[in-house]
Amino acid sequence: MPEQLDGCLFCTLAREGDHVAKGGGFVAIRDINPVADVHLLVLPERHVDTFRDVSAFSAEESGRMLAFIADTAREAGLEDYRVIVNAGAGAGQTVFHLHWHILGWTSGAAPGMVGFR
Ligand code: 5GP
Ligand code: ZN
Repeated sequence: MPEQLDGCLFCTLAREGDHVAKGGGFVAIRDINPVADVHLLVLPERHVDTFRDVSAFSAEESGRMLAFIADTAREAGLEDYRVIVNAGAGAGQTVFHLHWHILGWTSGAAPGMVGFR
């Protein structure tokens, strides 16, 4: 897979978006259409299509990605939150550049989870 994919929305936002956090090859942005009080997206700067391709990351890079997600949630003031990845169109993935949703509810408990998008 190329480092950056021409025409990929999240490759563009990883380069020049409004970043809530950035470091170690990962960025966090606010979801444009939030479904929770806090709804952030964590994306690798380099292009990876889906979570199915997670083996494209070394063990060390995968560890850094997970730590970045936890750090981003903590820095957003969240203690309790949900992390979701939609892997593939059938699971609701609409942007084919791997991203992790961080969802936090500051005005009450998290809703039960029937589906997500
Ligand atoms: P998916 O459905 O692929 O798991 O999640 C894609 C997410 O990207 C959706 O929650 C959607 O609201 C968000 N999104 C789509 N276009 C944009 C955009 O241009 N900017 C930002 N910040 N988020 C976007
Ligand atoms: Zn991309």
